[in-house]
Amino acid sequence: MIIIMTPGSGPRAMAEVLRKAEELGFGGEVVERGFQPAILVRDCKELKDLRTLQELPGVERVIPLSPVSGLVSKELKPDPTIVRLGDVDIGAGKASLIAGPCAVESFDQVMRIAELVVGCGVEIFRAGAFKPRTSPYSFQGLGEEGLDILARVREETGLKIVTEALDCDSLGMVNQYADMVQIGSRNMQNYLLLKAAGRLKKPVLLKRGMAATLEEWLMAAEYILAEGNEEVLLCERGVRTFSDHARFTLDLGVVPAIRDVTHLPVIVDPSHGTGLWSRVPPMAKAAIAAGADGVMLEVHHQPDKALSDGAQSLDPDSFVELISDLKRLADALGIEM
Ligand code: PEP
Ligand code: MN
Repeated sequence: MIIIMTPGSGPRAMAEVLRKAEELGFGGEVVERGFQPAILVRDCKELKDLRTLQELPGVERVIPLSPVSGLVSKELKPDPTIVRLGDVDIGAGKASLIAGPCAVESFDQVMRIAELVVGCGVEIFRAGAFKPRTSPYSFQGLGEEGLDILARVREETGLKIVTEALDCDSLGMVNQYADMVQIGSRNMQNYLLLKAAGRLKKPVLLKRGMAATLEEWLMAAEYILAEGNEEVLLCERGVRTFSDHARFTLDLGVVPAIRDVTHLPVIVDPSHGTGLWSRVPPMAKAAIAAGADGVMLEVHHQPDKALSDGAQSLDPDSFVELISDLKRLADALGIEM
């Protein structure tokens, strides 16, 4: 549970709550995150214990740790979280654009695509150096060489970089090069990786597991926040359903559902969510209309030659057209893009 203290309740009241929690057999820890003082008490689910703590001086209210409470909950922190990549903000009522190829293939490939996206006003570039592929025989990414290429591209273009860490080893490397670390769908419940990402001083883009409920997804984010890293950007990328007309079923309904329960920003990835480039524009527009904090798009200068996810990658013409449509849509909706 989370115990919210009244502002100015002071350290003595906090100490008394911690002492009482311990007496009841639970560990408690003070949550110092710049919002209202609070104490996180783990494993306390009994109503009578909850009431005992509720009645202590200085306690404003007690929030049971249901799957949508905890540090991710809007109840604990009503103000929307803004994720900051240097001077580029995500959240705060703006719609952000993240774009780039599925994978880093070479410096020339990445640079060509980077120039295209910069020309469209995109500020954040995506491309994987460590690729989670279904088959071990498919292109696995360039690894650290790919990260190095991304760093050179950032130097030349000023783009911010988001790229995936596949495990704790690659996390260390990605942390050295990237502006935001991506944790992919397949790793959403890799708890050791989540905890390690929680110890970074860098934003984390957390993709939804392809079979994860909203609660499971938010609890994965909770792992990161519980370690002290509050800058988590959620990314809806489609889930597995009985529908087989597309690679995944893009769950746009989760966007307003997220707004109801958490302060964390959410973006939508219609590329992985549909698996087919021609279906990306309508779903990208729908995501912005649904109130997402942005979209993440895969784009390639030669989709038919891409080493991964060519079928869902926009070509330069369709990319330019989509960005211009998205800007017109954002304008019409009164959203800054
Ligand atoms: C990606 O964004 O490159 C990726 C592998 O996505 P996901 O984890 O959603 O499959
Ligand atoms: Mn991809």
